[in-house]
Amino acid sequence: MYAQVIVDVPARPTDRPFDYEVPLELEACVEVGSRVEVPFGPRVLQGFVVGVSAEAPAGIDRSKLRTVRRVLDMTPPLTPELVELARWMSGKYLCPEIAALQVMVPGALKAKYDKVVVLREDVWRRREEAAQPELLPTDPVRAELADWLRARGEATAEALLERFPGSASLLKSMLAEGVLEERQRVQDRMSVKTALTVFPCGTEAELREAASALPARFQKQKDVLDALLAEGLRPQRLTELLHAVGVTSSVVKSLEAKGLVELRDVEVQRDPYAKRDFARTQPLPLTEEQSHVYEAVCGTLADGRHEVFLLQGVTGSGKTEVYLQSIQRCLELGKEAIVLVPEISLTPQMVQRFKGRFGDDVAVLHSRLSHGERYDEWRRIVRKEVRVVIGARSAIFAPFTKLGLIIIDEEHESSYKQEESPKYHARDVAIRRAEAAGAAVVLGSATPSLESVFATTREGGRKFRLLEMHTRALGRPLPPVQLVDMREELKNGNRSMFSGALHKAIEERLHKKEQIVLLLNRRGYATFVMCRSCGYVAGCPHCDIALTYHQNSRTLRCHYCGYAEREKSQCPDCQSEHIRHFGTGTQRVEEELVKLFPGIRVIRMDVDTTSEKGSHEKWLTMFGEKKADVLLGTQMVAKGLDFPDVTLVGVIAADTVLNLPDFRAGERTFQLLTQVAGRAGRHTLPGEVIVQTYTPEHYSIAAAAGHDYAAFLETELEHRRANGYPPYARLINITLSHEEVPRLMRISDALAQRLKEQALAARQSGEDGFTFDVLGPVAAPIARIKDRYRFRCMVKYRGDAVASRIVRRSVAAFEEQMAKEKLQISVDVDPQLLM
Ligand code: ADP
Ligand code: ZN
Ligand code: ZN
Repeated sequence: MYAQVIVDVPARPTDRPFDYEVPLELEACVEVGSRVEVPFGPRVLQGFVVGVSAEAPAGIDRSKLRTVRRVLDMTPPLTPELVELARWMSGKYLCPEIAALQVMVPGALKAKYDKVVVLREDVWRRREEAAQPELLPTDPVRAELADWLRARGEATAEALLERFPGSASLLKSMLAEGVLEERQRVQDRMSVKTALTVFPCGTEAELREAASALPARFQKQKDVLDALLAEGLRPQRLTELLHAVGVTSSVVKSLEAKGLVELRDVEVQRDPYAKRDFARTQPLPLTEEQSHVYEAVCGTLADGRHEVFLLQGVTGSGKTEVYLQSIQRCLELGKEAIVLVPEISLTPQMVQRFKGRFGDDVAVLHSRLSHGERYDEWRRIVRKEVRVVIGARSAIFAPFTKLGLIIIDEEHESSYKQEESPKYHARDVAIRRAEAAGAAVVLGSATPSLESVFATTREGGRKFRLLEMHTRALGRPLPPVQLVDMREELKNGNRSMFSGALHKAIEERLHKKEQIVLLLNRRGYATFVMCRSCGYVAGCPHCDIALTYHQNSRTLRCHYCGYAEREKSQCPDCQSEHIRHFGTGTQRVEEELVKLFPGIRVIRMDVDTTSEKGSHEKWLTMFGEKKADVLLGTQMVAKGLDFPDVTLVGVIAADTVLNLPDFRAGERTFQLLTQVAGRAGRHTLPGEVIVQTYTPEHYSIAAAAGHDYAAFLETELEHRRANGYPPYARLINITLSHEEVPRLMRISDALAQRLKEQALAARQSGEDGFTFDVLGPVAAPIARIKDRYRFRCMVKYRGDAVASRIVRRSVAAFEEQMAKEKLQISVDVDPQLLM
């Protein structure tokens, strides 16, 4: 038996199947989709079997064929259908096939021969305790990195750099100093998970006494003991304890040295939902609109036909109930279902709705799970223990074999596009997968993407079937939206960030004990540092981007390359001391709220407050339990939440996204405003929405205020048509980067030239039915990252196959240069973010 294997080297020359002989004893376990270990050059690599045959490949000397060494899993992690899908992705998104195959399996299967980095505690302490602190390297990330590593025990360099972006050189120097050590990981990555846990040593009385005996300068150690006592001496996860008390692990280590606590590795339960009881729910009797949609979907399911539905249902119209009952039907037909929701909406509330209906038949996959948790959930799919998967983007690759239905909720969300290679869009992959499996796809949204709506029209070829729901399931009307012109407020002397109307409305809700959602529509949520005297803004020396202030470590960091420096007390340009950080927008709104409404309870949700695992859930639960009056945040408060007592939604500034140089800015603004407005008055209490804006006349804002999707669509489509943007054409973004500008400019020009020539050649060879326009090259919106300059060519095209061939061939011509002079070219097909 012979196998064709795609090996784990994501580069172009190796982007093809290689032939291997399969030894007799392995024949039974090698199939298309198997993960194998094969020799490759001097190395041993992981690979995926993409084909098997009984005949030796033609024209190859059999004696030269190398053999498959090992099969890595009893059950192949991929199905033949997924292997085929990977090939398609490689063609469509111009990525190596291995990249597509890798993205389909959980991270736990990816890096088996990884080395891991561990902290050498002894070396670290010796250095820490060195009497000359001025000899210690000053990078502020060091200590944080050491703490993190200590708490985790070990980490791959990859995981470490993901947590501390851009710390590659720091990592290197710490390895050189011997503080960190690289070890070959011997144990299986998928073994049980453990965590460092703090065990109090002694009785309550003993520890109490020990605590009071500690001298005052050991206040932190006292705090830790108090925290343990407060929890009834329950052993606590080290990381959680540190976080709760706000100390570093050295404090706990000191207690350990005194024999008051003990640190031990303890096995951790990996089922992320193991501790929760999901109340079972029964199907609700459908409303007329819901039944109509349900019947349409079921008709297709029963026929086992492939069809794509676009379900446009206003917020609160009960789309989820339709999903649930359609899935029920799908299961009754003996088939499986995948539900995609945006990462941010994958709240416990959402999980409850699915687990409540299907119980243990559901696996949940999202990126907030650890490698191990993800792996365990995923294995339940492989073992056929579940028939429903709910997850974020990559759940689209769930290895089902009898797929009947794929649901994509909030289908317009840009997070369905992966921004790193393979740069795939889950919607397109879903449709492709469903086509092959004869499955139905339901794309749901209150504000569908223009691309999807267009596909339901005659002009768009009626590829999708439109289903609509205009009324809310519980009969409540959509809440009235009031636009407040902030220019008028300013004219009338109101300099606060709250208009008179919003101020009054908040006051009212507080009085009535109802709840409020406040949205700060801002994408550049980062906190930057500016000099008030001269306007200097602290920027990264390696990237054209402002540094972000991190409150916890009091450092300034670059989010692109990880460069870090200490907080400044003086402006480096004018020496003024009026240099300070400008809090995230949400932080400032919070301060103002507390000032204006004494006693108000605010939950703030933004990147800062939700970086911790589980924090997102924690805040939402608190809000649901009415432990706060206001839920204040960025995009994440706009999506999918269903709280009965929210009767007021306020938008602080609606226009901020409008000004971004992205042709989807209008669409994003409309979607966000509509989504957030939909959080108000969903149950019995009537809702109200107040939107503050500087451009109330803008069509996106006006249409969102009138809940008028049709009006928005008409204007937006006109713009797109006039400018040749999607859905009237499609885009490919080609970004080139190089260390030297003149060289980069020359290469970029040459690439643009080559693209045009290839397009011409295609036309001359008789290809038609395509368009292909090359724009640029121009400097990319962020013109420099990690000391590399960036240029961009944008291609506007119609006709998938021809366009990707032209781009592939053109880029291939620069391969030698890419290898020789550190030129990078990255291709993004159908980009979602143009920034
Ligand atoms: P959407 O996802 O369209 O915004 P949801 O599915 O969250 O809407 O439904 C909004 C509310 O209406 C939820 O509280 C849900 O339980 C309720 N609901 C949905 N369908 C029905 C129904 N047929 N009968 C009663 N209540 C329903
Ligand atoms: Zn200054
Ligand atoms: Zn940088």
